[in-house]
Amino acid sequence: MKRCKVCKKKPRIRRRVNNEGILFCSDDCYEEFEDSPNDMGHPYIDDYEAIRYEYIQWIKNYVDNLYKYWLYGAPRKEDLTERIDDLLGEYIDFYGLEGQDGVFSVEIYNYLIDFEQLQEEIQNFEVDGKELKKRRKAMYEEQRRRKEEEMWG
Ligand SMILES: [Zn+2]
Repeated sequence: MKRCKVCKKKPRIRRRVNNEGILFCSDDCYEEFEDSPNDMGHPYIDDYEAIRYEYIQWIKNYVDNLYKYWLYGAPRKEDLTERIDDLLGEYIDFYGLEGQDGVFSVEIYNYLIDFEQLQEEIQNFEVDGKELKKRRKAMYEEQRRRKEEEMWG
């Protein structure tokens, strides 16, 4: 597996590349490397940064969002997969390109595939009773804490 150009760690969900395909584990390492002068003028940079950001947010939050349905009654799984549909709809051009127009088009295309897998994962998600119990307890504790705050200031 390729490692970050700057710190040599294995990149995970915060991975990013520059327009030459050099790999970094994070924005920090990317910014530390001062040899990506053409990135900001690249026609795909905005789309790349946007979908990368969305992906990181989704990976960080989708399990919490799935449990929210069981704790608060919303959102439904379908709401989440539809939100991803809407997002993917903005990248129709990159489906057409299939990653054949340079480094950023490859990255964007891979994110599209990853998002489709995430949709599947969301659809197949089954709540874990033990985990739900834990989250419910945390929710009640939070509610109690807030009530006490309101009462006592
Ligand atoms: Zn790094």
